[in-house]
Amino acid sequence: MAGRQRAKSSRKALAEAVKMPVKKDDVVVVITGADKGKRGRVIESFPEEGRIRVEKVNMVKKHQKPTQRQRQGGIIEKEAKIQVSNVQIYCSKCDKPVRVAHKPLEDGKKVRICRKCGEMLDVK
Ligand SMILES: [Zn+2]
Repeated sequence: MAGRQRAKSSRKALAEAVKMPVKKDDVVVVITGADKGKRGRVIESFPEEGRIRVEKVNMVKKHQKPTQRQRQGGIIEKEAKIQVSNVQIYCSKCDKPVRVAHKPLEDGKKVRICRKCGEMLDVK
């Protein structure tokens, strides 16, 4: 881990809600950085920061103080946020990260589809 996480607070003022290309419960693949190639489900989305938290990606150790209930304290591992631009949506049909296209439905709603194979990515 390098010392890249310093210039944090100075950029906060510019924060504007980013239009997120992925959302909670999407399966994404990390395309850059230390966790490159890892696949996981989005567990939390932070549009103001343009960041997400992905299951089992970018795990950091956190020191937990001992509490009344839990005497030991100790170190727990937790997912840290990553830039949403560092991931791409995973298409199960292509079996790889893909670019997303938007397709309007008859009722005016839009769904996200795989730009390659046309598979619908909004499952529900
Ligand atoms: Zn596909």
